[in-house]
Amino acid sequence: KKAAQPNDMPDWSEYRGVLVVVEQRDGVAKSVSWQLLGIGRKLAEKLEVETIALVMGHGVGHLAEEAIQRGADKVYICDDPVLSVYRTRPYSRVCLQLIRDIKPEIVLMGATYTGRDLAGAIATHLPTGLTADTTQLDVEPHPSRLLLASRPAFSEKMVATILCKQYRPQMATARAGVFEALPRDPSRKGEIIPITCEMKEEEIAARVLDFIQDEKRVNLEDADVIVAGGRGLGGPGPFRLLKELADALGGVVGASRAAVDAGWIGHEHQVGQTGHTVRPKLYIAVGISGAVQHLVGMQNADVIVAINKDPDAPIFKVAHFGVVGDLFQIVPALTEEVKKR
Ligand code: FAD
Repeated sequence: KKAAQPNDMPDWSEYRGVLVVVEQRDGVAKSVSWQLLGIGRKLAEKLEVETIALVMGHGVGHLAEEAIQRGADKVYICDDPVLSVYRTRPYSRVCLQLIRDIKPEIVLMGATYTGRDLAGAIATHLPTGLTADTTQLDVEPHPSRLLLASRPAFSEKMVATILCKQYRPQMATARAGVFEALPRDPSRKGEIIPITCEMKEEEIAARVLDFIQDEKRVNLEDADVIVAGGRGLGGPGPFRLLKELADALGGVVGASRAAVDAGWIGHEHQVGQTGHTVRPKLYIAVGISGAVQHLVGMQNADVIVAINKDPDAPIFKVAHFGVVGDLFQIVPALTEEVKKR
């Protein structure tokens, strides 16, 4: 795509700063929020502007502190009982008000269920577009200052870079697990600015009465440990062995697409290009060959352990520790050993 010519561009000089919307539930931030602050800070440094965070919720003051430690220069916090659970109207109202007041040139949110809902609701009220589900983010430096928001397209066969030339702010949601969070730095200093929620409970039609945990849901993106199984398992039954090992390690079960396509386990467990992108502390790949489409989803794990009977399996090229052997012997022995400790 031909890069935009600065002369074609309207004057956007009143829009400055990169705003990251921090997503939380019950006072616990989604890891994608800190990952977005990590990339948001890099973009802001290139543009020589501030990294700004918005924290919304009730009893969430600690997250404002953490946002500073994770890279924000300035945090706007809206702490109000009306925001104790996510609902589109009050959350989008707070976001919209802030965006109109401070005019950031870039707004980033997680491509989670909540982030997708919120970003869409906001974009419809602003004279701008939204690039959803991005996996790469960069900026052209001054003077064009364009956000280069890239995402897979055409069934993941191409990567499209989408530019927002005519409007501000430039908005994107980004996949969890793709960008790296900055480690917490307690010595970082920043400004925390309280803002108010203009909406009253009586104005909101939606009431959240209860959350019912979906038994089948698995939170791969926030898991520290993932034990993933592939075609080598040979059927759905052996996933029980993986579950036992994952439980012993306090982790969750993932899968390759081959195992998902075979119907051995649900798609919500799939790791890879057309599944989840994950960044756990430990990823154990069991009976997975290591196809490139699988690797792109897990290669950023801190420690990768591969268990495969084929010593030439490509997974061993990315693994920090490899065990060549039969998974049906190794996995139960490993689980037993972990349980002893
Ligand atoms: P295989 O490649 O068949 O590997 C099975 C492995 O198990 C082998 O290495 C074998 O040595 C080992 N094994 C067998 N028996 C045992 C045993 N008893 N003990 C130990 N090891 C054993 N794939 C994904 O995973 N995620 C994606 O998101 C994804 N997206 C895709 C998108 C597109 C557009 C395309 C074209 C493909 C995509 N794929 C994806 C598919 C990918 O190309 C591979 O086909 C898939 O990852 C293979 O899964 P696997 O490693 O489980 O199976």
